[in-house]
Amino acid sequence: MSIDSTSSLGQWRLDGSRSAVEDDPLTDCLVALARMFDRPLSAHAACAGLPLDEGRLTPDLFSRAAARAGLSARLVKRRLNRIPDILLPAVLLLHDRQACVLFEVDKAGKAARVLWPDTGTGEQTLSVAELKRQYTGHALLVRPEHQLDDRAPNTPLTSGRFWFWKAIFRNWRSYRDVLVASLLVNIFALTMPFFILNVYDRVLPHSAFETLWVLAIGAAIIAGFDFLIRALRAYFIDRAGRRVDLELSAGLFEKVLGLKSEVRPKSVGAFADNVHEFEGVRDFITSTTITGLIDVPFVAIFLVAIWLIGGPIVMVPLVAIPIILIYALLVQWPLRKAVENTLRASAQKNATLVESLSGIETIKTQCAESQLQRTWEQSVEFISRWGVRARLLSSSTTHFSTLVQQLATVGLVIFGVYLASAGEITLGGLIACVIIGRRAMSPMSQVANLTTRYHQVRAALKTLSTVVALPVERDPKRTYVTRGNIKGDIDLQNISFTYPDEEVPILQNVSFRIKPGEHVAVVGRTGSGKTTLTKLILGLYEPTAGTVCVDGMDIRQLDPSELRRPMGCVPQDVVLFYGSVRENIVLGSPHAEDAEMLRVAQIAGVSEFADRHPRGYELTVGERGAGLSGGQRQSVAIARALLFDPPVLLMDEPTNSMDNRTEAKLRAALAEELNGKTFLLVTHRSSMLELVDRIIILDNGTIVADGPKAEIIEALDTGTIRAMG
Ligand code: ATP
Ligand code: MG
Repeated sequence: MSIDSTSSLGQWRLDGSRSAVEDDPLTDCLVALARMFDRPLSAHAACAGLPLDEGRLTPDLFSRAAARAGLSARLVKRRLNRIPDILLPAVLLLHDRQACVLFEVDKAGKAARVLWPDTGTGEQTLSVAELKRQYTGHALLVRPEHQLDDRAPNTPLTSGRFWFWKAIFRNWRSYRDVLVASLLVNIFALTMPFFILNVYDRVLPHSAFETLWVLAIGAAIIAGFDFLIRALRAYFIDRAGRRVDLELSAGLFEKVLGLKSEVRPKSVGAFADNVHEFEGVRDFITSTTITGLIDVPFVAIFLVAIWLIGGPIVMVPLVAIPIILIYALLVQWPLRKAVENTLRASAQKNATLVESLSGIETIKTQCAESQLQRTWEQSVEFISRWGVRARLLSSSTTHFSTLVQQLATVGLVIFGVYLASAGEITLGGLIACVIIGRRAMSPMSQVANLTTRYHQVRAALKTLSTVVALPVERDPKRTYVTRGNIKGDIDLQNISFTYPDEEVPILQNVSFRIKPGEHVAVVGRTGSGKTTLTKLILGLYEPTAGTVCVDGMDIRQLDPSELRRPMGCVPQDVVLFYGSVRENIVLGSPHAEDAEMLRVAQIAGVSEFADRHPRGYELTVGERGAGLSGGQRQSVAIARALLFDPPVLLMDEPTNSMDNRTEAKLRAALAEELNGKTFLLVTHRSSMLELVDRIIILDNGTIVADGPKAEIIEALDTGTIRAMG
């Protein structure tokens, strides 16, 4: 549940005083509760990937974090004495952004047993009066969820087929309101025809002005109600759609960020377009066109009304409605094809756009513009061709339904006149039947109208379902092992690895162990698999065979964030993000103290250029790091890796864009920093070998030498090993 009015939570949300990041009472409460329910979870694993507020868990995010420990949590607004024992333990939100876990209140209601997360595990007894004074009135009720095993259906956004409908169903209350409002609107729609019927049949013949006024006032009041209910219905639809949208959009993005590298899509642009399709789905479920669809079942009310007034005259709409529906059904097949083709082509178009933009300089220097222009124009042409076809088909259904409706009105009048002249229906009855008949058929034209959008939504849902079905790194069904501090013992046992969809193995039977504090270099020819090796250690890919252990534990048992946080990593291709140099250094730990940021910037050589620049650390770096030189980018990446003193450092050619002097400086600074840390260096530069004590030579995916630095260098010099190209 999310509480819309945040006023009473205001101090929780808006407190401007920035304390240290470690001060995150909600996470601490969650970790303590998870331990209590025997589903241990580390603070990092609880919060990884969640949109934290200033680095802290918020009450709204609590349930998402709790779900990772298999706990369900609900935010409620309740007075302290209204929380029954059976619902405890609960996390109480206190003033000044504090929180505590409440275990029980004694029988007399005087003393409460609570746990203050920042005092460690110690429980405390506190007077209820004191607790009341601090309590904001909001609490999070926490329950362990029943743990489902593999035989049970999956959780939302992990199951491929019904993820969308499940999300809709979870908000059934809102949709129930929509249905009730629709029922009322449709019943109210009968007012006008009955008003006119009575005027013609009862008022006019007898000049009954009093009756006229009574009827008119009644009709006006109902028209007012109708106005209100319609507005409410539009609001309900929006509200329901918004909830589904928030839930699914968040889930989708979490999915996208959590995807395993093995299944990461080949084209970023096309994938982005697929994810973007969700907008269409969102519009569909929130738009008022959907009301047309909701009105369809209520057509029955109108048909019954016509039958009651005009008897056999009901045959006319009963024939006309199926004709419209059959036509709409007939165009479905070609329409579906047209819509699907358009969507596929638009994904391709987006892929071209994104790829061109990210490689614009290469395209220019290689004079490859015309090629891309052609691909682009072909996509556009294809889309417009199929788009025109889709629009023609869908507008034809609308036009056809208008035609049938008009003919049906004529039919109603003819039929009505015969019935009236036979005395079976009054004049008022005839007019009422015509009005109700038109009303009964109007949702049909909406249905015809909706078909194109329906196909778009269907196709989008189909694509999104494939995204939802992709595996993520953090398996929601698994409980990960929580380790305290990692010492940095890295052990690779018989690792073999082949990239997905490739045939040639990149690594074969690679085994080595790096003890805590050891400094090791991996060297080898281009393409020998060094970078791949570091990716396996970081858990970005899973080895095809063999195991990677960190501190004696298979890394698959560790939560990805727990594995990566203690590993400072400089990748071969440094990627910076749009923002300042400072933001890029503290990426992932935005609340790092300036002192720490400056310390690592000094070691990595960022200060060399940041100090000289007038804007210093606030210098803006463009997307992907445009705006900094290659060497400067590497400095930023090294600073990033060193932040918070991680026990393990992995560096993949950290200095290949630097000049010798900068590198020498960095080497000297690093030598000190590396003390006591496990260090794995991939390099082509022999000067960098100064930092290590041991060298592993990789050739064509296998280890050809592994030993102390002096021995290996000597063997290379004498030609005993010939692998470095
Ligand atoms: P370099 O010294 O040039 O950095 P490297 O030793 O780091 O080379 P890797 O990047 O590990 O080499 O690549 C090893 C092999 O794996 C290469 O032959 C490459 O073609 C292949 N490869 C790398 N990344 C992928 C990928 N994402 N998909 C498929 N194959 C890949
Ligand atoms: Mg490499």
